[in-house]
Amino acid sequence: MAEQIFAATVDYHQLSANASSIINATGVPLMAVVKADAYGHGLIPSAEAALAGGATWLGTAFIDEAIKLREGGITAPILAWLTPPTEDFRQAFDSTIDLSVSSLEQLSAILSASEMIDVKARVHLKVDTGMTRGGALDQFPVLVSALGELLDEERIELVGTWSHLACADEPKHPMNLNQYSRFVSALEYLESEGINPGIRHLANSGAIINFPDFAFDMVRAGLLLYGYIPGALATQRVDVKPVMELSADIALVKRVSEGATIGYGATVRLPEDRYIALIPLGYADGIPRRFDGELHCSIGGIRYPLIGRVSMDQVTVDLGRETSVKAGDRAIFFGPNAGVTADDWAKAAGTISYEILSRLGARIPRVAR
Ligand SMILES: *Cc1c(COP(=O)(O)O)cnc(C)c1O
Repeated sequence: MAEQIFAATVDYHQLSANASSIINATGVPLMAVVKADAYGHGLIPSAEAALAGGATWLGTAFIDEAIKLREGGITAPILAWLTPPTEDFRQAFDSTIDLSVSSLEQLSAILSASEMIDVKARVHLKVDTGMTRGGALDQFPVLVSALGELLDEERIELVGTWSHLACADEPKHPMNLNQYSRFVSALEYLESEGINPGIRHLANSGAIINFPDFAFDMVRAGLLLYGYIPGALATQRVDVKPVMELSADIALVKRVSEGATIGYGATVRLPEDRYIALIPLGYADGIPRRFDGELHCSIGGIRYPLIGRVSMDQVTVDLGRETSVKAGDRAIFFGPNAGVTADDWAKAAGTISYEILSRLGARIPRVAR
């Protein structure tokens, strides 16, 4: 296969290894979170790799994402947790996709759709323990009692009970223990109502690293699977490596004289004669247009700073006064062996590795290494 002029090359074997490291570290089943095109890594191959590494569940935001997994031949259980009432739930039941329930309205919409096609809906009861996003809050007791009746009548299946943490990447934040105890209280409440909570799951990547006691019956890992650590914390606990390398062929190398300005806004004026390289990736591909300090890419094992503004489809790189770099050489924006990571990019752009990875543009082909 001819090499793509630019590509996100993904080491799916390493993704499998990351999944199995997570499982070894936690000792409980793993739900591989593959929303947003598997954080930009390619939905189906990432899901397959995670399953090959021992994950037994998949998590998506939307039913559509889950259906794509089914269409890709994946039979593992899937939970989709973001379902506006305008969603066609019947499609989810046809594909055996579990849904999250946070409110009475959701419960009744799911129930009526399931009874319309005569299937038993599989749901995970979501508790709001302080994230204040999805999950039942004040409504929790009424929701539990409605659910209890449906369970008695065998009209629904409660597969799990779950919640999501707001600050798991900040181990010292008091929210963590608060949310944990609210989750435990919710589980105790279910028990007192005679309801089996099913699979209890709370921990995301941050909690897998920082709070081993939060594992319950399953953990939900996204970022760790792709080899990054939330908050870029040092960790010995889970041995993961980044799986994606973003790279492009250099389109042009040229010598530019002292005093020349570079790019839109003419924001940079060269203090001396320099060589610059033009690389065909830009903000339309997810390269941050705004960043503080220096952003580097790696060419032939050497780090070079980007110079001038990032354009829609291209960026320029400062090669210095002399160079052996030539057009056609490969520039690596970030990757496991490039000396530049998505964390470096995130830091320079004032964001998190999650955003750098998941917003990579659709026109970048995802290629298996
Ligand atoms: C995205 C997401 C996860 C995974 O989070 P990571 O920090 O990437 O591990 C887990 N649970 C829910 C509900 C999510 O939305």
